[in-house]
Amino acid sequence: MFTVLRDRIKEPRAAYHWFAMSEDALISSREGGLYCAAGDFYIDACQPVARTIVTHAHSDHACAGAGRYLTAAAGERVLRKRIGAEAVIDSLQYGEQVDLNGVKISLHPAGHVLGSAQVRVEYRGEVWVVTGDYKRQADKTCAPFEVVPCHTLVTECTFGLPIFRWRKTEELAAEINQWWRGNVSAGRTSVLLAYALGKAQRVMSLLDPSIGPILVHGAVQSMVETYRASGVSLPAAEHANAETARAGKGRALVIGPPGASALWMRKFNPLSVGIASGWMAVRGFRRRKSADMGCALSDHADWPDLLRTIRETGAQRVIATHGYTAQFARYLAETGLETSVYATRFSDAGEEDETSAEEA
Ligand SMILES: [Zn+2]
Ligand SMILES: [Zn+2]
Repeated sequence: MFTVLRDRIKEPRAAYHWFAMSEDALISSREGGLYCAAGDFYIDACQPVARTIVTHAHSDHACAGAGRYLTAAAGERVLRKRIGAEAVIDSLQYGEQVDLNGVKISLHPAGHVLGSAQVRVEYRGEVWVVTGDYKRQADKTCAPFEVVPCHTLVTECTFGLPIFRWRKTEELAAEINQWWRGNVSAGRTSVLLAYALGKAQRVMSLLDPSIGPILVHGAVQSMVETYRASGVSLPAAEHANAETARAGKGRALVIGPPGASALWMRKFNPLSVGIASGWMAVRGFRRRKSADMGCALSDHADWPDLLRTIRETGAQRVIATHGYTAQFARYLAETGLETSVYATRFSDAGEEDETSAEEA
């Protein structure tokens, strides 16, 4: 039923890009997303399918146009914000089980962003878990990751290379607050770029509001409001406009999305630019983005946590998706696990959700 791709994964990516597991795999990879034939549903479909389970609301997992959605209750508001008020969304509490055409489904916390879930699928005694995006590090803005035992694990591997090893969240928080304090002493406004959904709110939860006012870009603010409405408590923050920029000049920390324009940033001059992203762990990324401060704060599992998670689930078969799939699958195959790769539409996009909402 499963094939070890030892030889194939040494070939260039394109050679197995759409490599399909055998037809009877409980969950297979289709062009529209991951598909469960027994239950006739998709997971993270990005085509207009009849029914999809959504692991979380980032744009490479949640797309508008499906007939019916199933998601974790904690993330329902966030999902609706992203895919539209008219979408038909069913929700489940974490751990609650439903039956879909004879297939048992439950959702379990993934610790990635608010409402993020792993999908547990059970059929005729066989258990598969699809992790979606996940992390094992502390995050006050969402439920912590839960280990779900399974036979087959479909795991993301956005940072599936040994070079990715995160520092503790507290250390990274201290680094951000120290940078902010330093900027206040120098009379500069701090502009921190972070993904509008998830990262921005996690960053907010780590800030020390006694240093100065917190301002947020419109794209971030709308998600902050959705988080608050979902019951997540975050420090006070005001919309970053010309007026608040002037009032907070040299003291404020402004959170904007990575795609924020130069025009938008100009009103915070003199400023210091920081980026909060796992990619900051790679020398060169920061320079290319011309940031003054790069903080490797990621909402994905690093290399040790990916391996630990696979071990803890007890899975004998692992399918890598979303990220450094070829390298990661090759490593796993060498450790004796049955391994495969499921391509995703955005498998090279890495950390997702490049909100480019322009705001002048
Ligand atoms: Zn994500
Ligand atoms: Zn993703």
